[in-house]
Amino acid sequence: CYILAVETSCDETSAAVVKNGTEVLSNLIASQIETHKAFGGVVPEVASRKHVESITLMLEKAIDQAGIAPEDLSAVAVTEGPGLVGALLVGIMAAKSLAFALDKPLIGTHHIAGHIYANRLIGEIRYPCLALVVSGGHTELVFMRQEGHFELIGRTRDDAVGEAYDKVARALGFPYPGGPHVDKLAVESAVAEELPRAWLEPDSYDFSFSGLKSAVLNAVNQHRMRGEDGYQDAIARGFQESVIEVVVEKAIRAVKSTGAVQLLLCGGVAANRGLRQALDARCEREGIPLSIPPMKYCTDNAAMIGAAAYLKWQRGEFSEMELKPEPSLSLEAWSAR
Ligand code: ATP
Ligand code: MG
Ligand code: FE
Repeated sequence: CYILAVETSCDETSAAVVKNGTEVLSNLIASQIETHKAFGGVVPEVASRKHVESITLMLEKAIDQAGIAPEDLSAVAVTEGPGLVGALLVGIMAAKSLAFALDKPLIGTHHIAGHIYANRLIGEIRYPCLALVVSGGHTELVFMRQEGHFELIGRTRDDAVGEAYDKVARALGFPYPGGPHVDKLAVESAVAEELPRAWLEPDSYDFSFSGLKSAVLNAVNQHRMRGEDGYQDAIARGFQESVIEVVVEKAIRAVKSTGAVQLLLCGGVAANRGLRQALDARCEREGIPLSIPPMKYCTDNAAMIGAAAYLKWQRGEFSEMELKPEPSLSLEAWSAR
């Protein structure tokens, strides 16, 4: 089974060919970060226009690099949501056109299922498992009793982790996307500013990062008013410690209470060195098998969409040609289709 997958939900235009849901034959990614940097964040209209400019070439290259003929494809998969409506639309139109021209089935795919299934590209997923999704727009704990079954047991009530990182980075004077800058400062800093932890209700698997973000902004202002300098390192480390402590603790607790036999880390924030180390050490200590995809499969890419689409292909569940963008599609709704 050869699936051509397309991903345009945010600011990466990506196309890939994935064999049997596990083997990446090609995975091309055109990032728009340089374009959006000037605006300090992703501008939806600009994102759509950039996707239009590069999508056709990406599709051609993905098929070409995979070393197969277009007729060899088994299906065309595309992210239908969640994401920016205009950005999603570009990928959907391109995927539909190709599926129609080649007379192949179309598979609308969930972006977060893609992030989770990035783990399938590096090995078997053992069930029941728990996925910790940390990205620019999502912070979720997803329990998977079995293949294709998604149960959202925890989510952020305000900012996503990546979003909080980007806002803190901006306050510390770093360009978009600021996550990697804060990570670097945090790991290198010898001191940590005291900042709050948002545990919420004792039995809750939900997250909240807006209070922490406000505490960081207040701290930055106070240091500035006092005319101090060089406070950035301690704030970065204090912020990162607060985020990691809560995220790791809730994930481990969720693994234990659900009886999950494996923990999957995914999403762009999985690049965070502090988080990887802390989760790795804790899982080692608790004897919990942990899976973390390599960076190229953590940030937005089409290969992960091809891996998730394979689930639908195996079940023979295809999309109508009327497929349209679903900006706030839930995992449960998608898998029940
Ligand atoms: P979603 O998948 O929720 O729609 P997205 O696809 O835009 O969101 P990703 O591309 O998965 O998000 O991740 C991007 C986010 O990851 C940005 O917020 C970025 O700052 C953050 N990020 C990247 N590297 C690091 C790092 N080392 N530490 C912390 N955050 C990071
Ligand atoms: Mg992105
Ligand atoms: Fe993403």
